[in-house]
Amino acid sequence: MDKYLKAIKQNVCSICVDSNEKGRCTLNENEVCAVELYLPKIINVIHNNENEELTKIYKNLKETVCIECHTQNEDGHCYLREDANCSLDRYFYLIVETIQKVDAGILT
Ligand code: SF4
Ligand code: SF4
Repeated sequence: MDKYLKAIKQNVCSICVDSNEKGRCTLNENEVCAVELYLPKIINVIHNNENEELTKIYKNLKETVCIECHTQNEDGHCYLREDANCSLDRYFYLIVETIQKVDAGILT
C-alpha cells in the first residue's frame, strides 16, 4: 500500500488544487480526501478491472466507493463531484494511470 500512496502523493497531490507549491495537502483536520480515505478500495477496483475501459472503471469506482461515501445522496448525486471538488473524481484518470504504472514497475 505504501508504494501506491507514495506514487499518488508524487503524481496526484503534486498537481492537486488542494496542495501547496511543495505538493503538500492543505486540507484541514475537518476535511477528508476521498483518494486517501478510499485508496485500498480504489486500488481493488483498478486491479479487478485490469483490462476494462476507463469509462467502465469509472462506473465501477462510483458503484464501489461513492455508494459508501456520505456525500452522495440516495439519488446518486454528490455535491462535491458536481462542483469538481472531490479529488478522486477530479483526478480519476491520473489516479488509474498512476496505480497502473506502479503495477507495471514504471513508478516505484
Ligand atoms: S486533497 Fe487529496 S489528492 Fe489533493 S493534495 Fe490532498 S491528499 Fe492529495
Ligand atoms: S465523488 Fe462524491 S461520493 Fe464519490 S468519493 Fe467523491 S465525495 Fe464521495
